[in-house]
Amino acid sequence: MATHSKPIAWTIAGSDSGGGAGIQADLATFHDFHIHGCTVITAITAQNSFAVGHISGTPRRTLAAQINALDSDMPADAIKLGMLGAADIVEMVAKYLEDYSGFVVCDPVMVATSGGELLDDSALEILVEKILPRADLLTPNLHEAEKLLNRNIGGLHAMERAAADIVALGARSVLLTGGHFPTLDKQRLDYWTDGEQGFWLSGPDIKTVNTHGTGCTLSAAIAAAIAKGYSLSDAMVLAKSYVSKGLRLAVQIGGGPGPVAHYG
Ligand code: PLP
Repeated sequence: MATHSKPIAWTIAGSDSGGGAGIQADLATFHDFHIHGCTVITAITAQNSFAVGHISGTPRRTLAAQINALDSDMPADAIKLGMLGAADIVEMVAKYLEDYSGFVVCDPVMVATSGGELLDDSALEILVEKILPRADLLTPNLHEAEKLLNRNIGGLHAMERAAADIVALGARSVLLTGGHFPTLDKQRLDYWTDGEQGFWLSGPDIKTVNTHGTGCTLSAAIAAAIAKGYSLSDAMVLAKSYVSKGLRLAVQIGGGPGPVAHYG
């Protein structure tokens, strides 16, 4: 770990003008974990609680300048990857990670719950080929896992198989999140595996429509806890309970589904 007074995590992700997901959720999460957050913004989205209206990818030069400014002065103890958007951005981020030796959590953001496409089709292939092998942890939800594997995943046993198959695609480990899967005894289950070992994480099933930004927040919280020195299994437990409380405290902001809460 670098010699600075506070751990540093970077988020390489997209901006959500509605403040519920993306960079904004990641920074709020880093703040709650008492670490310093740096941002490499890959895209600017214009969105509210109803829809993603417009997306503008960051120019290559601007992306490189952000990475270079941080790398020379504020190196990351852990990096979280969120929305990457376009193929050239995925390529540049993959290139940077070749020389980065810290922990990388990748949330393979593809489609917003409100419907906006957040990853170009041409970028998905490059993400699998070049980012997955550098991801210490990939955190897909059901829809992202189905797109990665190009098949439907039904039920809890299928989750175990799917997570192992995504590890076989190249990620060092996978936490397949269970928010869109059936509950078991009113518990929401996520499954983690590195291909050799595996375990379930269970948490309460919290009934709310205000779930915007949950995936972003979970992956940012894992990166934050890793930056603080926690083991991966402890980081995932801390992150899951942080998100569970955020869902319990979430309120509607705007006319559509509101964001998961960040609460300090
Ligand atoms: N907007 C941005 C910029 C994001 O990074 C994400 C993350 O997944 C989303 C929107 C999607 O948010 P959700 O699907 O949780 O509503």
